Amino acid sequence: MTSAILIIYTGGTIGMKQDPKDLTLRPFDFSQILEEVPELKKFAVRIDSYTFDPLIDSSDVEPTLWTRLAGLIRDRYDQYDGFVILHGTDTMAYSASALSFMLEGLTKPVIFTGSQLPIGIPRTDGKENLISAVEIAAARDGDGHARVPEVSIYFDSRLMRGNRTSKLSAEDFNAFRSVNWPPLAEAGVNIRYNKSAIRYPVSWSQPLTVHDRLDTRVAILKIHPGITPEMVRIFLCAPEIRAVIIETYGSGNALSKPWFTDIIREASATGKILLNVTQCTAGSVNMDLYATGKSLKEAGVVSGYDVTTEAALGKLFVLMGRNDDNGWVKAWLGEDLSGEISK
Ligand code: ASP
Repeated sequence: MTSAILIIYTGGTIGMKQDPKDLTLRPFDFSQILEEVPELKKFAVRIDSYTFDPLIDSSDVEPTLWTRLAGLIRDRYDQYDGFVILHGTDTMAYSASALSFMLEGLTKPVIFTGSQLPIGIPRTDGKENLISAVEIAAARDGDGHARVPEVSIYFDSRLMRGNRTSKLSAEDFNAFRSVNWPPLAEAGVNIRYNKSAIRYPVSWSQPLTVHDRLDTRVAILKIHPGITPEMVRIFLCAPEIRAVIIETYGSGNALSKPWFTDIIREASATGKILLNVTQCTAGSVNMDLYATGKSLKEAGVVSGYDVTTEAALGKLFVLMGRNDDNGWVKAWLGEDLSGEISK
C-alpha cells in the first residue's frame, strides 16, 4: 500500500528560493513541491502539502503555532501515515519539544526539518534534509507499523528525538545535537534505524490525545556570577509567573548565599513551580551531590534531570495547561512523559 505524507510548511530558510529578477530570497509555492524537488517523485509515496499563512521566520514562533500544528495533525491524522514539518531552525527544538508533549499516544512519525541554506540555491542542505525526512516518515516495518512513531528532528544525516535536541551551530550544516540521547536513525548509504533508542507506543491502536491548552506563565532564570537579589526576585516572585526554569551550574548547583536560598524558599512557599535544569549541554541535574544543590532541593526546587531547556518549557506549558494544581504539575515534571529525561 502506498504511504501518504503531509508536508507542512510553516516558514524558515528551507522554503526559500532566489527571485531571478531582483535576487532576493522569497518563499516558494509548496503546492509545486514535486517540481521544485523532483527527487521526491521517485518514492512510492503520495505527498500532499499544507502551507501556513502567513509564513513565519521561526524567531517569531508563538505557542499558538504549536496549537495550530497539533490541531492540523489531529484533523488529518487518519488520512496520512506521517507528517513532515518544515520549520526555521532557530526555534525548531522548542516547537518539536512542545509537540512531543501535546501529541500523546502518537503512533505515526512527525518529523521536523529545515535547512541552513535555502532549498532554491545550489549548495543547499535543504534537499537532502527534506528527501530523507519524507523517506523516514513513510518507512514502515514488516508489520506495517511506522519505523519511528515519535516527534523528531531530521538534520544533516541524523534523526534525533525532538525533545532531546538543541540547535548548537549557527554556521554548520550539522546544526543540531542530541547530546543525552543517541540518534533514532542515521542516513548513510542506507538509513539505519536505532531500534533501542526509538520509543514505541504501548499499543499501535491507541488513540491520539491532543493537549492543546497551554499555560505559558513560565520564566527562565539563568544563574550567573554577579546575579543580584533584585534580579532573582523579579523572576521568582512576580505574581504573573507560575513556574520558573532555573538554569543552574553543572549538576544543578547555584549560589549558596543565604539571600538566594531565602528567595527560593519564599517563592516555593507561595506554591511556585521551580524546576532545576543544568546549563551544561551534557549530563544531568543531581541535587544530592553538592551542598549547594541540596539546599535547592530542600527549599522545594524540582529536578529536571537531563532535560533540555527547550523541552522543559514545552513540558511545563502542557502540564500547566492540563491542570491548575501546582502540586500535580510538580509530581509529573519528575516523570518521563515522552522520552525527554533519563532517570
Ligand atoms: N531565522 C530562520 C528561522 O529560524 C533561520 C532558519 O530558517 O533556519 O526561521
